[in-house]
Amino acid sequence: NKPDIKILLLENVNQSGRDLLTAQGYQVEALKTSLPEAELIEKIRDVHVIGIRSKTKLTEKVLREAKNLLVIGCFCIGTNQVDLSYAAKSGIAVFNSPFANSRSVAELVIAEIIVLARQLGDRSNEMHRGTWNKVSNKCWEIRGKTLGIVGYGHIGSQLSVLAEMMGMNVIYYDVVTLMAMGTAKQLPTLDDLLAEADFVTLHVPETPETKNMISSAQFEKMKTGSYLINASRGTVVDIPALIHAMRSGKVAGAAIDVFPHEPAANGDYFNSQLNSWGEDLRGLSNIILTPHIGGSTEEAQRAIGVEVGEALVRYINQGITIGSVNLPEITMRGLTLDEPNHARVIYIHRNVPGVLRKVNEILAEHNVDKQISDSRGDIAYLMADVSNVKTEHIKQISEELEAQSFNILTRVLY
Ligand code: NAD
Repeated sequence: NKPDIKILLLENVNQSGRDLLTAQGYQVEALKTSLPEAELIEKIRDVHVIGIRSKTKLTEKVLREAKNLLVIGCFCIGTNQVDLSYAAKSGIAVFNSPFANSRSVAELVIAEIIVLARQLGDRSNEMHRGTWNKVSNKCWEIRGKTLGIVGYGHIGSQLSVLAEMMGMNVIYYDVVTLMAMGTAKQLPTLDDLLAEADFVTLHVPETPETKNMISSAQFEKMKTGSYLINASRGTVVDIPALIHAMRSGKVAGAAIDVFPHEPAANGDYFNSQLNSWGEDLRGLSNIILTPHIGGSTEEAQRAIGVEVGEALVRYINQGITIGSVNLPEITMRGLTLDEPNHARVIYIHRNVPGVLRKVNEILAEHNVDKQISDSRGDIAYLMADVSNVKTEHIKQISEELEAQSFNILTRVLY
């Protein structure tokens, strides 16, 4: 029943998401901040849905207490703050918003390309300090320059279109072969790209393969006087190697939006012990340092609110898991719950032999209109639309499914 669904939204989730959930008739409580662990545990016990952003850590310890929790909405891109596998084992779906801010990041990078080419950061800082320093030496137009995009996914390919429109040549490197936008050209290796690009911009995910993907050996291969932009993840660039490459003049400028250790809250940053290179980085010329703001626009936040809000509604009302980052992705059309004697059975279970036989035995008295099931590792998800069920059957179906040793979570929508 929709009015029984309790939702807790933390970290000032965008109004667009809140409105969408409230309009469904759910009980929504929205808080501006994250909660200290003890308070979080207290609150999470009671709710069916929690919406968070990057600061709330949903660890096993916290999730163990979340006895009623059906689903977690990460109103952001990353999901590292959630123990995804523990959530899956507990039958809790997790959704995020993978692309809602791609455009914002691509636009930031376009801005940075020009700012670096014209040394705008330095000129502006000098003026702030009272110094008039008119120079054209080593300041360039970007027209006709080559942009090398590493990782040609949502952001990389969007950036490709924008850069070409401004007269840049675009080359890219990706681990998979991807269709080029416009006249962009895919190169077979990262080294080929580094040798040709005037600007290198990184748009790969954080994986073991991308850790320190740009380090001393890669800086060596870059053109002298080229530029590096990183708005992907902080682990991708070896910062001490960047400092060295900039001091030697190999790299003429850099824009860094993401750092190896990022703090949970705004405030003092470079004094942290973890960033022993902080002073050196700040002392460089023509380097733009920003606090992970690539996706931080009003438009992106609104789009994230809608994207995650809609995924939550689909999951709560219909059990659809498309876009889930930890459960098999299942959808089924034609939910006919408004019709009498129809129900949708959702069965999250351990992926072991004999489940389907048992489930069909339990449903045998009824008419199974449609059934679909899929697995992801140890966890499987089954959805069945059943007709010819009366209200009194619902309880019996639920109880029988729940009694099975492989049961993780049973829901019957009717
Ligand atoms: P995406 O998944 O759409 O694209 C990533 C691309 O990188 C894919 O095409 C993939 O094949 C490729 N790739 C993976 N491993 C690679 C490797 N080892 N070498 C070369 N290519 C590789 O991701 P996206 O949405 O475009 O995001 C890209 C990055 O930007 C991610 O790290 C994401 O976390 C980050 N991001 C940062 C901000 C910000 O605020 N700065 C905002 C959004 C996303």
